[in-house]
Amino acid sequence: MLDYENWDDTKVNSILAGNRDYFDILKWAYREYQKDIVYACSFGAEGIVLIDLIYKVDKEASIKFLDTGLHFPETYQLIEKVRQRYPTLKIEMVTPGISLKEQAKQHGGELWKENPNLCCQLRKVAPLKEAIAGAKAWITGLRREQSLSRSQTQYINKDDKFRKIKICPLIHWTWDEVLAYIALNKLPYNPLHDQGFPSIGCAPCTRPPQPGADSRSGRWAGLGKTECGLHQS
Ligand code: SF4
Repeated sequence: MLDYENWDDTKVNSILAGNRDYFDILKWAYREYQKDIVYACSFGAEGIVLIDLIYKVDKEASIKFLDTGLHFPETYQLIEKVRQRYPTLKIEMVTPGISLKEQAKQHGGELWKENPNLCCQLRKVAPLKEAIAGAKAWITGLRREQSLSRSQTQYINKDDKFRKIKICPLIHWTWDEVLAYIALNKLPYNPLHDQGFPSIGCAPCTRPPQPGADSRSGRWAGLGKTECGLHQS
């Protein structure tokens, strides 16, 4: 098995040989890791596509949502719709070790404004680390066109942050392809996408991007931050 401790470029190249596509990678990942793989889903548009694809491969796949307690109501409503459509998937809400009340007491009531890196560390990075501790690999919906920082993402990545294998099946998908897949398959999606939000995270940190700006530029707008820390070493 390919795992973090035994990363092997030759093995990775042989897995990727033969023009593998997103679905080949997904099927390989579930064959390789079986129950030792987790999908960390944000329930954005890419997330909905991946859930539908994963369901075709493993109807009891483990899916974790980082429930910071600060998501839009529309996101929580969407998760319920997804549960109804894919009842056998194991969708788990992962909550931070520190409540919002305790966070406010220790760091002030709007830590996302004062120190968004610490807020993401407490409410996203630390909980994910714990949630995937027992897995060998995790899946994310990163796409290369989303931002410069994601433009070099590979199908199979050595993730030094969490010391796991990180699988990114959608790296070559465009935003239009994501929306077309959702429309063609009549999948539920977050209605905020229709209101100019291509990327949806916590409500205090998500705005629609400026016209022509990259799709993630509405996240932490004005704070000089583009990633929550899950995808940075
Ligand atoms: S996205 Fe914003 S509110 Fe959510 S954890 Fe990060 S800083 Fe906090």
